[in-house]
Amino acid sequence: VHAFLHVAADQARATARAIDARRASGDLSADETGAARGGSASELAGVPIAIKDVLCTIDMPSTAGSKILEGWVPPYDATVVAKLRRAGLIPLGKTNMDEFAMGSSTEHSAYGPTHNPWDLDRIPGGSGGGSAAAVAAFEAPLALGSDTGGSIRQPAAVTGSVGVKPTYGGVSRYGAIALASSLDQVGPVSRTVLDAALLHDVIGGHDARDSTSLRDEWPSFAAAAREGAATRSLKGLKVGIVKELQGDGFQKGVTQRFEEAVALLTAAGAEVIEVSTPSFEYAISAYYLILPAEASSNLAKFDSVRFGLRVNPPGGGTVEDVMSATREAGFGPEVKRRIILGTYALSAGYYDAYYGSAQKVRTLIQRDFARVFADVDVLVSPSAPTTAFKLGEKLDDPLAMYLNDLTTIPANLAGVPGISLPVGLAPEDGLPVGIQFMAPAREDARLYKLGATLE
Ligand code: GLN
Repeated sequence: VHAFLHVAADQARATARAIDARRASGDLSADETGAARGGSASELAGVPIAIKDVLCTIDMPSTAGSKILEGWVPPYDATVVAKLRRAGLIPLGKTNMDEFAMGSSTEHSAYGPTHNPWDLDRIPGGSGGGSAAAVAAFEAPLALGSDTGGSIRQPAAVTGSVGVKPTYGGVSRYGAIALASSLDQVGPVSRTVLDAALLHDVIGGHDARDSTSLRDEWPSFAAAAREGAATRSLKGLKVGIVKELQGDGFQKGVTQRFEEAVALLTAAGAEVIEVSTPSFEYAISAYYLILPAEASSNLAKFDSVRFGLRVNPPGGGTVEDVMSATREAGFGPEVKRRIILGTYALSAGYYDAYYGSAQKVRTLIQRDFARVFADVDVLVSPSAPTTAFKLGEKLDDPLAMYLNDLTTIPANLAGVPGISLPVGLAPEDGLPVGIQFMAPAREDARLYKLGATLE
């Protein structure tokens, strides 16, 4: 399956000694390493967890799937990783991903693709295919992912797992190697809704180290999931089927399983209506300008001096020559494509036409969400237009790969939470299908309650 890029056991003792030495010398505070234990133990204490390689871990390499960070061991833990350790979870290792989280298939990893455990010739989704495949293959009971345009929900859908993108700002981004900072959110991948909720309870909450972190007091997501599982009723819940996220372009078996799941909602007492969000039609176009723009800026720090790889051009050269040789060798083709797209969209003379227009579309999408959420409590759609496609099928066609993100991108552009749940297998290929629910910002608990009701 090749879910892992690095397994913790390989060097656990050596790194534990190294950390102890740094702590003893006063170089690290207990808080920074997550070693400060105490308080009440999480129900997940002792449970192993796989961590997407986009998250900084002080005791393991953190490459974000890129050659440019090969072997790089960060000097600190991401806040979410520190929180895991503090709660007593055991990091198993780092999972494979598309380079810098750019992709929908994990084929853009510099370290080779991950295979879908349901069919090894198929993709496990992306960019967090490693995390989802690890969970689906029973290599780990839980995993962390990051979702900028669907990288938790789509891999969960195509591997038959549960995946959650929290409300933007609900989970700290500190120590998450940034793709597009206004869209990125860290979240859980699991086999059950309750597991995801328990993990969200551990990683969520305000972090002073992340300037976009919300100061909200969050309810217990596990309590919401348990309530849903206990009552098993959706009476009083209004569900909106998003007109723009179904129909042509969706695989037959995906639509079939989706419609069956919607019938279950009605049977459980929910009121289901169709709603329209016309701006969603432009979501992919807006996203693939905003994301490359932010990514090109975030990736400027890989300059051959501050992190990872350095390549000296033959015969020496200027600082710029070294930088350019390093970036040429260290970044893969998809990363280069997006840097070029992003710098172009941001360049003087084109800014208003591309980046400015994309931001306007983003506002329209946010307004669409606000308008429909005045009428319904949650929105529903298939999590992805198709089941897992074949490895190699879309690799040479970036646009086809981008179009796969149709269903997941709107939630990121609006900052609202989304969950993907497994709803059986498509009859034509026997592969998992996912259903996605979205709720207004800050209403993550609603998704856990609903998800556990259906499970
Ligand atoms: N497939 C999307 C992209 O390629 C999702 C990325 C993500 O969520 N990290 O940008």
